[in-house]
Amino acid sequence: MQSSSVFDTIIIGGGAAGLMCAAIAGARGRSVLLIEHAEKLGKKILISGGGRCNFTNINTTPANYLSENPHFCKSALSRYTPHDFIALVEKYGIAYHEKTLGQLFCNESSRQIVRMLESECQQGGVTFWLECSVSAVSQKSDGTFSLETTRGAVSATSLVIATGGLSIPPMGATDFGQRLARQFGLRVTPMKPALVPITTHEAQQGLSAISGVSLDAVASCGDAAFRENVLFTHRGMSGPAVLQASSYWEHGTSFTLNTAPTLDFDHLWQEHRTSAVILKNILAQRLPKRFVEAFCEKYAPALANTPFSNLPRKEYNALAEQLQAWTLTPSGTEGYAKAEVTAGGVDTNELSSKTMESKKVRGLYFIGEVVDVTGWLGGYNFQWAWASGVAAGQVV
Ligand SMILES: Cc1cc2nc3c(=O)[nH]c(=O)nc-3n(C[C@H](O)[C@H](O)[C@H](O)COP(=O)(O)OP(=O)(O)OC[C@H]3O[C@@H](n4cnc5c(N)ncnc54)[C@H](O)[C@@H]3O)c2cc1C
Repeated sequence: MQSSSVFDTIIIGGGAAGLMCAAIAGARGRSVLLIEHAEKLGKKILISGGGRCNFTNINTTPANYLSENPHFCKSALSRYTPHDFIALVEKYGIAYHEKTLGQLFCNESSRQIVRMLESECQQGGVTFWLECSVSAVSQKSDGTFSLETTRGAVSATSLVIATGGLSIPPMGATDFGQRLARQFGLRVTPMKPALVPITTHEAQQGLSAISGVSLDAVASCGDAAFRENVLFTHRGMSGPAVLQASSYWEHGTSFTLNTAPTLDFDHLWQEHRTSAVILKNILAQRLPKRFVEAFCEKYAPALANTPFSNLPRKEYNALAEQLQAWTLTPSGTEGYAKAEVTAGGVDTNELSSKTMESKKVRGLYFIGEVVDVTGWLGGYNFQWAWASGVAAGQVV
């Protein structure tokens, strides 16, 4: 008979990926121990989606993920799709709705998703050790893993690391998984906060007047462009379009905003060329007034109060171009304290894309956000957590 300190599988990290992996492995009849250092499971699930958990995106494709190897996520995502997770949600009678752009949210509470996963784990006989810390991990010559924990020594033939990324340290985030990867000789790609508000020099240099303004815009960084809301903050910019583009931003590079993506400035010129109404009032009929006033004051003070009919075409064109391709140089980001995810992590070249097992260390698996696979905003990160958790859960 198996002693209580020996399991088939130990999973460290009771978040989205760890819970899913535990449920799948437990359902296969494996003895599973899930170790979580926080006092409860799934804390990020609980706060996600404003408390309603944007649990998947029905439009998920590998193109919605960033990674040094963009092909890595394909296998797991194709074998556990948004529809598989929706089927689980429906099995539990959890009501949900599509908010926008394929993003599915619970009608009631994220707590329902955590309870669902806990219930799946309980059916599989998963053992939970909450408020338990792991101080040392080693691999014996027979391949089994030995762990020193605050609840004593424990060992298993498979060890799954599901400790997530570095964002929001008060929620329990640590770099445990990335350190463990290095301990076992696995490369970790450079990490940075992603899906994060950015800070700009412009905000510090006189555009603070637009703090609180939000508008429909296209935020671009390199080749990546996202059209959604942009929110100006007193330190820079946030809102879905900026968060999305922030994942592609590198220090020293610029950020471009099209603040008037639907405005046809040639048409506007033809329409108002004989008008006595001043430029800023015409623009304020199409864009938020406070934004127009602050933008014109900074970039075109002489034009702002000029009747449209007196505008020099060249200066008008220059302002139009600036509104539609406003190049900002971010000074930085709001960092891990405000980032929704961490970009980078355990190098996917170190792992099997089928099982998430380390190619160098048999029996060692990495799943979820600890891996160098980072999703867009909108349910993609949870879909990766579920899919990678299932991929490992089926084999550990
Ligand atoms: C505010 C916020 C809102 C979000 N909303 C969404 C959303 O709506 N949709 C979406 O798709 N994504 C969302 N995300 C991202 C999503 O939460 C993560 O990508 C996802 O939770 C990653 O799953 P994971 O299991 O890899 O990591 P996590 O869910 O972070 O789980 C890791 C677990 O490991 C534990 N842990 C860490 N270190 C140790 C250690 N040393 N020992 C033991 N346990 C440890 C942590 O306490 C945690 O429970 C949001 C993130 C944030 C911060």
